[in-house]
Amino acid sequence: MLFNYFMPTKIYFGRDVVLKNKDILKDFGKKAYIITGKRSSKINGSLDHVIEALECNNIEYIIFDEVEENPSLETVEKASLIGKNEKVDFIIGIGGGSPLDAAKAIGIFINNPNINKDNINETKDLKSLPLIAIATTSGTGSEVTQYAIVTDHNNQTKKNLGQSVFPNVAFLDPSYTMDMSYDLTVSTAIDAFTHLAEGYLNNNASELTDNMAESGLKLFGKCLKDILKNNIDYSTRENLMLASTLGGMIIAQTGTSLPHGMGYPLTYFKNIPHGKANALLYVEYLNIFKDKSRVNKILRFLNLVDVQEFSTMISKLIDTTVDITEKEVEVYARIMCSNDAKLKNHPEKVGYDEIYNIYMNSLIK
Ligand code: NAP
Ligand code: ZN
Repeated sequence: MLFNYFMPTKIYFGRDVVLKNKDILKDFGKKAYIITGKRSSKINGSLDHVIEALECNNIEYIIFDEVEENPSLETVEKASLIGKNEKVDFIIGIGGGSPLDAAKAIGIFINNPNINKDNINETKDLKSLPLIAIATTSGTGSEVTQYAIVTDHNNQTKKNLGQSVFPNVAFLDPSYTMDMSYDLTVSTAIDAFTHLAEGYLNNNASELTDNMAESGLKLFGKCLKDILKNNIDYSTRENLMLASTLGGMIIAQTGTSLPHGMGYPLTYFKNIPHGKANALLYVEYLNIFKDKSRVNKILRFLNLVDVQEFSTMISKLIDTTVDITEKEVEVYARIMCSNDAKLKNHPEKVGYDEIYNIYMNSLIK
């Protein structure tokens, strides 16, 4: 056995954890910068809790509530300029993966005044302002990963910012996720599943990540029946949030694999939400494994018999078709194969033909 493990985020999990632990905010500074989306945090209770916790500690705050889905570098730059002018001490990201990733990027931009959207890739190891992450979806695990996925319109792509920003603290209160629509619940839950699965089917998997992945996959399996029946109570929301956080802790070590790299063009060019984009490719991804031993284990954790039953389950959950041509598939496959980093976590040899076939068999039948 030989492995490394690093995940420095302090996690507070459970109902009302923001208010119950509000005293810790004192250590972060005198002025907070809340980064969130346009609507949901004002409705699900998370923003109210954060404001109450800050006011109890006499901490000043400003709010940027313009983060869009798949946040762009332009938005990050806009929010950063405001944060620099306001001399904020720390960041609180509230929302799904989009506001959390934007918050990480904004923390980097504010703390490094010479950095902007055009030169961010030229310097490594940039440090962020201190960051608190409050997840309101159960999918990305961004609250416990170092990744910040941003949309780079100049290069027409989504990409990792290329800096390592683990939040200092993650507050995980499943009650914020209670009123997510069914569609959002499914798309984000599948994202969590794909992190667990891709971390398990990964060259960088270790004994530790395998143990976490097995627990997370069993948790997801436990939730599946209720998700399929659209009968999702607090206890299932709790399990989904835990599964999502486990997924994040795993991919923080292993990275993701083929479906994630292949899903980004579907999100960028076809506007398919992240979790669904992965889901559309998953049956064919599982089918390309020559050694099916781990794939079969995953199916067992989900209480499914074979890939066919997995496929039926995905079709019940995701009712999405993509309007795509063979030419577009060729372009996406070429983009994917032009970057070794996107292929290297897959444990078997893959190249253009395999990637092309996954796209074609998944999207153009
Ligand atoms: P999201 O893009 O953050 O949010 C999607 C939608 O859900 C938004 O309309 C948002 O509304 C709404 N929403 C959020 N919380 C809600 C709640 N509790 N109730 C009702 N609606 C709610 O979705 P996401 O799937 O969580 O994040 C996807 C992003 O994360 C992608 O950019 C993906 O690439 C990235 N990602 C990052 C990592 C990582 O490790 N950093 C891993 C996987 C994926 P508002 O806009 O009003 O808030
Ligand atoms: Zn993902």
